[in-house]
Amino acid sequence: MVFHWFRRDLRLHDNTALFHALLSGDKVQCVFIFDTQILDKLDDKADARVTFIHKALAEIKSQLNALGADLWTFYGNPVEIWKAIVEEHKPNAIFTNKDYEPYAIARDNEIRTMLLSKSIAFHTYKDHVIFEENEVVKDDGTPYVVYTPYSRKWKALLNKQPIQTYFTDALFGNFNTTSVSKMLSLEEMGFSPSRLNFPSKSTTQGVIKNYAKNRDFPSIEGTSRLSVHFRFGTISIREKVQKTLELNSEKWLNELIWRDFYSQILFHFPHVVNGGFREKYDSIKWRNNEEEFKKWCEGKTGYPLVDAGMRELNTTGFMHNRVRMVVASFLTKHLLIDWRWGEAYFAQKLLDFDLASNNGGWQWAAGSGVDAAPYFRIFNPHNQIVKFDKDYKYIKKWIPEWDTSAYPKEIVEHKIARERCLATYKQALDDGK
Ligand code: FAD
Repeated sequence: MVFHWFRRDLRLHDNTALFHALLSGDKVQCVFIFDTQILDKLDDKADARVTFIHKALAEIKSQLNALGADLWTFYGNPVEIWKAIVEEHKPNAIFTNKDYEPYAIARDNEIRTMLLSKSIAFHTYKDHVIFEENEVVKDDGTPYVVYTPYSRKWKALLNKQPIQTYFTDALFGNFNTTSVSKMLSLEEMGFSPSRLNFPSKSTTQGVIKNYAKNRDFPSIEGTSRLSVHFRFGTISIREKVQKTLELNSEKWLNELIWRDFYSQILFHFPHVVNGGFREKYDSIKWRNNEEEFKKWCEGKTGYPLVDAGMRELNTTGFMHNRVRMVVASFLTKHLLIDWRWGEAYFAQKLLDFDLASNNGGWQWAAGSGVDAAPYFRIFNPHNQIVKFDKDYKYIKKWIPEWDTSAYPKEIVEHKIARERCLATYKQALDDGK
C-alpha cells in the first residue's frame, strides 16, 4: 500500500501527487491530518477556513466511499501521526504535493528523514503553482524580484511547456478498498461550524472575459472570487490557466502569475515573513496607536472606502483587491501602523489567507516589498472613491449609516497624514543609507 497525503490540494481530479500514487502499482489510501501546530494558533474556534477544509474533505470522502475506498482523517502533530501510521501499515511510499511555506518545508523535511530511516519513500510534486521556485529565474540563475520580467519569462516558459492535465479518474480502480471510517467532526477538534457562505467554485466565463474592464470596481462582481479555492486546491490551477488561455484573458492570467511570483519570493527570501524585503524599511518609526488600529479593524476610520472594505472583510472573509490596496495603504501610510499588524489581521480574517500573497500585498502597500510602489506615492482615499466607486454603491452596501451623523468623523486629515508619512519614511530611509 502507498498513501496520498492531502494538504493544499483538496480534490481528486487533476491532482499531481495523487495521479502518481495511483500509477505506482500499489493500492492508494488517502489521508488528511488536521495539524495541531496550525490549529492551536487559531483563536476563533468557528474559524471559517477550518469549516471550509472540513467540507471539502467530506466531499472527497463521499466520492471515495462511492468507489469503495475511504479518506482517513487524523488530528495531531503530523510527524507523530505519520510515525504511528507507518508503524501500523508499513506502506511502501507516501505521495504528497509540495507546500512552499517555511513551516511546511521544515515539517516535510522532518517527515522525509523519519521515513527514509525506515526505507519508506517520500515523493513530493509540484501542484499548487504553475512554475515553482527555480523554474522561472534570471539567465544567471538568481530569482526575479521584479514582476514584469518575471511574468515575461513565465509566459515564454509556458509557451514551451504545454500545460499537463493529470487524469486521475481513469485510475480510480487503484484506491485501497476499505470500510468507511468515521470522519473527525469539528467539535471533536474544539471547533464549531462557521456561518460564512463560501464563494462558488464555478466562475462564469463572462467574469474572466470582462475582467480587464471590471476588475477594479468593488461594487461589480468583476473578479472571480476563486482565491479560497486556489488556496486550498479545491480547483486546479492548471485547469484555470488553460481556460484563461482559451478565453484570451491576459489580464486575468497576469493575476495568476502574481500568485506564482509571490510564492517564489517567499521561498527565496524567507526573511520577508518577519521583516521588510528591503531591510532599511524596518527602521521606520511606526506610531502604532492601538486605538486607531482598533478603529481600522472595525471599519470606523471615517474614510468610507477604507471602512466599507474592513466591514466587507469582517462580514464575509473576503475583500476586493482594489480595496485591500486602499486599506493597507491607509493603515501603513495614513496611520503609520506597522504593516505586520495589518498583515496579521488579514491572516486572521481572510478566507483566502495565503502567507506568500498576503505578505507580498502588505509589503507592496508599505513600500518595503519587492516591486513596491515608491513610498512617496500615497493613495488618496477620496480620489480612489471617485475613480472606483463614484456612485458610492459599494460604500452604501457596507456602511448603512454613511452620510448620517452616526458615521464617524475622519480619524486624521488626509493632508496632515500624508505629510507626516513622507517625513517619517524619509527619516528612516535617509538614516538607513
Ligand atoms: P481575481 O481578481 O479573480 O484573480 C484570480 C486569482 O489570481 C486570485 O484568486 C488569486 O489567486 C490570484 N491573485 C490575484 N491578485 C493577486 C495578487 N495581487 N497577488 C497574488 N495573487 C493574486 N490573495 C490571496 O490569495 N491571499 C491573500 O492572503 C492575499 N492577501 C492580500 C493582501 C493585500 C494587502 C493585498 C493588496 C492583496 C492580497 N491578495 C491576497 C491578492 C488579491 O487581493 C486576492 O488574490 C484577490 O482579491 C482575490 O479575489 P479573486 O479570487 O476574485 O481574484
